Amino acid sequence: MARVIAVANHKGGVGKTTTVHNLGAALVKRGHRVLLIDADAQANLTTALGARPWELSREKRTLAHVLAGVTSVDEAIVSDLSRRGPALLGASGALVVVEEVLVTKDAPPTRLGRFLAAIDGDYDYVLIDCAPGVSRVTRNAMCAASRVLVATTLEARSIAGIESLNATVQDLAQRYRPDLRLLGIVPTIHDRRQSSQNTRLAELERRFGRSLTVFSPIPRTARMSGEAISARCAVETSHCNPGARAYLEIARRIDTLQGSNTSVHPDFAAEVASARHEEDEPEAFAATA
Ligand code: ADP
Ligand code: MG
Repeated sequence: MARVIAVANHKGGVGKTTTVHNLGAALVKRGHRVLLIDADAQANLTTALGARPWELSREKRTLAHVLAGVTSVDEAIVSDLSRRGPALLGASGALVVVEEVLVTKDAPPTRLGRFLAAIDGDYDYVLIDCAPGVSRVTRNAMCAASRVLVATTLEARSIAGIESLNATVQDLAQRYRPDLRLLGIVPTIHDRRQSSQNTRLAELERRFGRSLTVFSPIPRTARMSGEAISARCAVETSHCNPGARAYLEIARRIDTLQGSNTSVHPDFAAEVASARHEEDEPEAFAATA
């Protein structure tokens, strides 16, 4: 069964897309079959993976076309972007239009989840890159997932948004998806020379660390702020980049938190098994399936 994780934050520019891209690549390196879904009309993830939003749109192979019922998930997924990279269900500007379709076609935000059930056995992980805010597409993305991973910069406003994101997740869980909950928080674009950021990192731990996993921060690196968004996947382009190492470590911990490791590449299986004993995770995640 695929483990579906939506990466979200009400704010833009906090590293959601960078997190999905790098974490996706890191999970592939761990031997997993990974599908990345671009649920943002800006289509940054689609472009970063080397696909062209307008071409996908012309071929009716975007998330919008799937949600509108024009194309099946299977037909829309692009799996030959790179030889050993993740597969992509891409986005284009058409995703804005589909908001209206979602109101008229199906009121509960469970449409995407039902479509994804068709490919459940094909992937170990499905990561969904959400747009900022809580549009209908974002609510569909969260309800298609069992876990929401928060990406946040270490700015007061981004951190303040975590409470409201948690409220959204709890509301969706109560109404549509009882097993939906936050997986944890990834502090992004961390500049450790800025003392205010270190203070906020400690604040994140204090406020959320008891019930959630606050992952090690992703350092700010020149590579991941690069002009060419396709080059921002440090995991693919530069193993020794500190950002790449941080994302590889988060992938390892997510594997551990998610419990089942049956599909982990043999090279990693022993490492993951021993990590499970070593790590002292918060109670809330002991029973995650
Ligand atoms: P979002 O998807 O939340 O809008 P992005 O992933 O597009 O955010 O990131 C916002 C900006 O921050 C981008 O320009 C990206 O290159 C940059 N960025 C993300 N992570 C890092 C990092 N670790 N170091 C430096 N720049 C980063
Ligand atoms: Mg984005």
